[in-house]
Amino acid sequence: MLNQIIQDAINEQINNELYSSYSYLSMSAYCEHKQFAGAASWMRIQSQEEYNHAMRLYDFLIARNGRVELSPIAQPAIDFDSIPNVFVQALEQEKVVTNQIDALYELAFKEKAFAALVELEWFVQEQVDEEKAARDIVHKFEMIKEDPAALLDLDRELGARDASDAE
Ligand code: MG
Repeated sequence: MLNQIIQDAINEQINNELYSSYSYLSMSAYCEHKQFAGAASWMRIQSQEEYNHAMRLYDFLIARNGRVELSPIAQPAIDFDSIPNVFVQALEQEKVVTNQIDALYELAFKEKAFAALVELEWFVQEQVDEEKAARDIVHKFEMIKEDPAALLDLDRELGARDASDAE
């Protein structure tokens, strides 16, 4: 059984993951608006991935006989400076989530919530992958700058992301 402190913190992280999902969906909509269909598809898959993260914590709370308490999801950004800037913002968002996961892990450690620690280990590792994926794309946009042919190529590459890889 999870104590109330851990339950509240996991419920808060469910909200953080849902916000992250909502934010990626808004980024996807912006990319569609700018006719970058590949980037839009990448962001939409990422949104689904964040939803899956929320549901992982949701299922964990239920498995531990905890209570899921959903709260309002904040409005995400709607406008961005450019397509490359969308990915810069995505990387910044992942850094924020990494800090949230680290804080939750530290709390679970302090509260001796061992099952939660094991569950959260997956999230600690996932954040390493999430930051790397976003950073790699930001780096590619920095390299190609305004070259239209290279931008089209990168959009095609982003569009090739497989929806089934959304963990
Ligand atoms: Mg996540």
